[in-house]
Amino acid sequence: MNKTYLLEVFIEHQLQQLNRPFTYTYQGSLIPEKGIRVKVPFRQQSLIGYVTGINVIEDINAYQASSPYPILNITEILDEKPILSAELLLLVDELAAQQFSSKIGLLQAMLPPSLFPSKQSQRSPKVAYEDWLIFTNEPVIAKLNAKQKNWWISVKDNKKIRTHDIKSKAAIQFFLDQGLAKIEKVEKRRFDFKPLKVEAKPILSMDQQEVVNQINLSSQKIFLLEGVTGSGKTEVYLTLSEQVIKENKTVLMIVPEIALTPIMMSYYHQRFGEKVAILHSGLTPAEKFDEYRRILRGEVFVVVGARSAIFAPLKNLGLILLDEEHSETYKQDNSPYYHAREIALWRRQFHNCQLVMGSATPSLETRARAQKGIYQHLRLSKRIFEQSLPKTTIVDMNQTQNLSGFDSIFSQRLLDGIQLRLQQKEQVILLVNRRGYAQSIVCRQCEFRFTCPSCQVSLAYHAQINSLKCHYCDHLESLPHQCPSCQGQQLMKEGFGTEKVVSSLQRLYPEAIIARLDTDMASVRSNPTQILKKFQDKQIDILVGTQMVAKGHDFPNVTLVGVMLADLGLHVPHYRATERTFQLIAQVVGRTGRGFQPGEAIIQTTMPNHYAIQLGAKQDYASFYNQEMKERKLRQYPPFTFLARFELTSKDQNLLDEVALELTQSLKNQLEQIAEVIGPNIPYPEFFAGVFRRRILLKYKKYQLLQPILQTIYPLLLTKKTVKILLNIDPYDI
Ligand code: ADP
Ligand code: ZN
Repeated sequence: MNKTYLLEVFIEHQLQQLNRPFTYTYQGSLIPEKGIRVKVPFRQQSLIGYVTGINVIEDINAYQASSPYPILNITEILDEKPILSAELLLLVDELAAQQFSSKIGLLQAMLPPSLFPSKQSQRSPKVAYEDWLIFTNEPVIAKLNAKQKNWWISVKDNKKIRTHDIKSKAAIQFFLDQGLAKIEKVEKRRFDFKPLKVEAKPILSMDQQEVVNQINLSSQKIFLLEGVTGSGKTEVYLTLSEQVIKENKTVLMIVPEIALTPIMMSYYHQRFGEKVAILHSGLTPAEKFDEYRRILRGEVFVVVGARSAIFAPLKNLGLILLDEEHSETYKQDNSPYYHAREIALWRRQFHNCQLVMGSATPSLETRARAQKGIYQHLRLSKRIFEQSLPKTTIVDMNQTQNLSGFDSIFSQRLLDGIQLRLQQKEQVILLVNRRGYAQSIVCRQCEFRFTCPSCQVSLAYHAQINSLKCHYCDHLESLPHQCPSCQGQQLMKEGFGTEKVVSSLQRLYPEAIIARLDTDMASVRSNPTQILKKFQDKQIDILVGTQMVAKGHDFPNVTLVGVMLADLGLHVPHYRATERTFQLIAQVVGRTGRGFQPGEAIIQTTMPNHYAIQLGAKQDYASFYNQEMKERKLRQYPPFTFLARFELTSKDQNLLDEVALELTQSLKNQLEQIAEVIGPNIPYPEFFAGVFRRRILLKYKKYQLLQPILQTIYPLLLTKKTVKILLNIDPYDI
């Protein structure tokens, strides 16, 4: 007789934060494993869930009798082999306990949509197949004609080829007729990767070799690779990867933005061919599904991807690489909260493998840990061909003599610089860290300002779609011809963004080819890749964009970088504002002068004396680190303390205030000596996506003391229905 299994099954349900599996029985002939999917009945619905626990019971009747509620049988087992490994199941458990993230949310962050625990009907996995010609016997070469021989030579190593790739029907038929091959349906990879042109594998420079040696000889496992922009960090990653793959271990290569995956993928593809998979949120669900299954089947040795790829189900990890370690995009700052760096550290420990974090401008946290020797500190202090860092000029936009008179958004200096590059057929990057055409629209007559109905912040004007857009919640409305308040006809545009810069430049330089790269463009799938490829192929003269243009890219023909609104980020009341501004400027300045022509950077700002701008322009990380660490120490902010944040949201403002006050008081009482409790604070915007918000900030030194108390408090808070409460450990946005 079949055994009776008691299965703990994780399904999607309303009270997700309860993090509780449901119990089902199974009595079939299969042997269930943790991490497989099963179909289960749940309140008149059929759901797909994951098995997270298994027990065998002797007497089902006795068990049923002792249970307060009836235990149902699962409907069906869906997988032969687990989708979630023991490692990932443990990761979910520990992360949920440590970081207070919901387990179901984490599962959804780590899995492709078609493998989500979900309603059965929603997104059932779909596998696509294609025909492959699989060779079972060797032909007698002498009997082949020239063409057939060529075909044979091209497939003889792999012994298989997509029928699609043999253009000749006759050749296929010949191989089949001779009994040399058969046709099989094989799971198809829908992601059609078109590699970008990349440099051939170089010989490592002395500095690069030194870094590789240090890593190989070290007894430590975690490294910070601090390398100036253009110092050749990528080649270090590739060399380390090669070593690890030779030992039959796998590599995770994480980059901070989807826009950086094609180039990194191309490098890995060049070295490792089909053994590389790609994972990021820009793939279609079908592509993601296929890539995920290739990894599960053990076909790939490298996964290249953005944030969520840190959960890639690679087995036998030998190396984790986190490029541009300082990037804030590594923190998912909405629920489920997680930081790719924290996950990297966790997985590194699990596999006892190496982790290398690289950056020209490391986060203060990581740099401070390297200082203390918790991570080994490695440096690449020169550019690869010892090119000098770019010459930079800071232009004070308060001084009217600096202005060009054209729209007053460009300084004369910047226009001269652009003009020169256009003449010399060199390329220009302009950083404008604000999307859209205008920051806001105001009625000239009555000063009515268009605001977002759900966030109450000013709406930005986007010319391309002739609409008003909220940059917080993406609310969209068309721009009316007149003021809704006084019917005035004159609507003024205030403040500028990327669109306006592009259109002004186009008027100034009608011959130039100008492109824009920001998240508005990025929402059009594969567009960033195309734009970056065109820019690489020198089909674009000037690239205007938000911080997307600042990171990682390597375009040797760029000799001028312009920064407009350099101080934009400094006006935000946030302890990280200076660090962000410094990083952004240092990074974007680092995009120029990477080839053989020297580079120049021109930085427009109304705060020319601020140290974030001055030191960013010089890419002087060491001085910035020293100065900023003093600030942080003085104000007791990370890395000298840690933060946690409660966010409370509700439609009912009065109730919200009441609950927020009550919670603040109770936290103060319970966390005395352990954490400083600051709040309730009103975040900006206060009203977001239809609900009011309040925040309470905790500043603490020892998480071991705080965590157990939060563990008892937090579950109780989740049961409130009218006020939703989320807890974010190490939040970026406070
Ligand atoms: P980083 O990431 O440190 O800013 P990259 O990895 O983009 O720098 O490298 C900068 C440039 O130097 C790239 O164009 C790369 O092809 C080139 N490069 C790197 N290593 C070498 C080497 N050993 N020999 C020649 N060129 C190299
Ligand atoms: Zn809004």
